[in-house]
Amino acid sequence: MMKTNNEIEHIANDVLIKFVKRGGVYKVFDEIMLAEGIKFKEIPSVSKDFVGALTKGNNSQVYIIINKNIDNLGRKNFTIAHELGHHFLCHQLHQNLGFCTVNDITEEGHQQNPIEREANYFASCLLMPEEKIKSAFLGMLERSRKAKIKDFLYVKNDYTFGIWILIRDELTKRYGVSEAALRYRLQQLKLARFEFL
Ligand SMILES: [Zn+2]
Repeated sequence: MMKTNNEIEHIANDVLIKFVKRGGVYKVFDEIMLAEGIKFKEIPSVSKDFVGALTKGNNSQVYIIINKNIDNLGRKNFTIAHELGHHFLCHQLHQNLGFCTVNDITEEGHQQNPIEREANYFASCLLMPEEKIKSAFLGMLERSRKAKIKDFLYVKNDYTFGIWILIRDELTKRYGVSEAALRYRLQQLKLARFEFL
């Protein structure tokens, strides 16, 4: 059963209301998994294709498994949020070999497979909830520029790129996401547009 973006966002917000008091959700991943009865494992897979999985063991224990060789913290958080998406959106558990690959977990959207697209959208909403990311972004935008347009950043030259760097460094750190994930979310919320990068 397909879900709309609104439905997915509501499900993500319910998780946030339950578990996050302040700051980024990535700080409470352990708490969420514990409450949901999910065990977390990192395995050193040499396969570049394997990124993460939500899977069930023989004892019906549910696991989130991610590739230990993911070296980017933002990417790692996005992967965990993506697997939590499969869990909270009640997607059928992957069979033993059906892991989420590098093509399934895309921080920039453009996903054809509807199940993977839903999990990616969930991850985006969970890591960067609209209200929080919007007010943080607009607050920084207002403080960092004198220009009149206050509610939108169009990155197209050195000046706007300079503003973007400040905002990017702050928000990727605060929400534990990669630049790619942040850019995609801001574009999706119609807060920014990027001419180059
Ligand atoms: Zn997936």
